[in-house]
Amino acid sequence: MTYQGLIQRYGRYLDLPDHTKTISLLEGNTPLIPMPRLGRQFGCELFVKFEGANPTGSFKDRGMTAAISEAAGRAVQTVICASTGNTAASAAAYAARAGLRGIVLIPEGKVAVGKLAGAIAYGAEVIQVQGSFDDALSLVVEITQKTPIALVNSINPFRIEGQKTGAFEICDDLGSAPDWLCLPVGNAGNITSYWAGFKQYQKGLPQILGVQAAGAAPLVLGHPVEKPDTIATAIRIGKPARGEQALDAAHESNGRIIAVTDEQILAAQKILSAEGVWVEPASAAGLAGLLAESAAGRFEAEGKRVVVVCTGHGMKDPSIITESFRSPKIIPSTYNALLDAIKL
Ligand SMILES: *Cc1c(COP(=O)(O)O)cnc(C)c1O
Repeated sequence: MTYQGLIQRYGRYLDLPDHTKTISLLEGNTPLIPMPRLGRQFGCELFVKFEGANPTGSFKDRGMTAAISEAAGRAVQTVICASTGNTAASAAAYAARAGLRGIVLIPEGKVAVGKLAGAIAYGAEVIQVQGSFDDALSLVVEITQKTPIALVNSINPFRIEGQKTGAFEICDDLGSAPDWLCLPVGNAGNITSYWAGFKQYQKGLPQILGVQAAGAAPLVLGHPVEKPDTIATAIRIGKPARGEQALDAAHESNGRIIAVTDEQILAAQKILSAEGVWVEPASAAGLAGLLAESAAGRFEAEGKRVVVVCTGHGMKDPSIITESFRSPKIIPSTYNALLDAIKL
């Protein structure tokens, strides 16, 4: 039978109500790409879980199929979310698929172009809020408490249910859980979901390395960050909704949550691109964290199986690349000019 999406494949492991009406874009089933060259550097068996291969280009589709399916099944008419971009694009696509009205709130001027374009293309009503993601989320919480609009941020428990499937897929692909799982942490829904997924699936438990950006690292600092700042827009979050659960996941797994600088994130992004895997900056944080821990002698990788979750596609945030590179050369349309340009 051809692949029919996450709820069809893993629904029996997901705590979704009976009224759930499956809305799917055949999300999930993303590649677990072996990275032998990079792995040799750490002496480990390294894989990238490439979540950019989801229908809207990020892992958010895993939770969104569940949240929108639940909402559609109880005849909700309008869904809303606050977003640093990828949740907006995902909510917009699944709302469109379900025939629902989709409203997304984004922090003004702080969303990468590929994400904003996605939300608009899928037909959501995009509203810019003069404030941070955290401010936008507070507004979304308030309006969904006072009106029948359904909230599809990751405070919505069904988002977490859907996102557990990332852990299931990794276990199914490897035959068991890896030794380490490294991933970026923003609002902390994903780390919460992975940990819940591994515990439920009973194929072993990884140690978890959660990675925040230094300018938006409330879980490392131990207090909220009023003005979070990082080029990794998807994790530019100062008050993670599931911060406690993220700390529990790191602690219970015998792992930790660390912070890396924007420079380290961009360097990791380049390393991944050089292996043919282009991810958006936030998505490179997991590898940046692994590199930093390894360099500091805090990561015993030898002989271990390590999965780095790359949460979103590089095409989401193309300007970060084009701004830091010179424009491609221009040549006359002649063979000699070409030979000259490539200096064989
Ligand atoms: C949402 C997102 C994150 C952060 O995930 P949380 O569940 O908020 O911790 C990281 N990377 C990308 C690409 C995202 O879209």
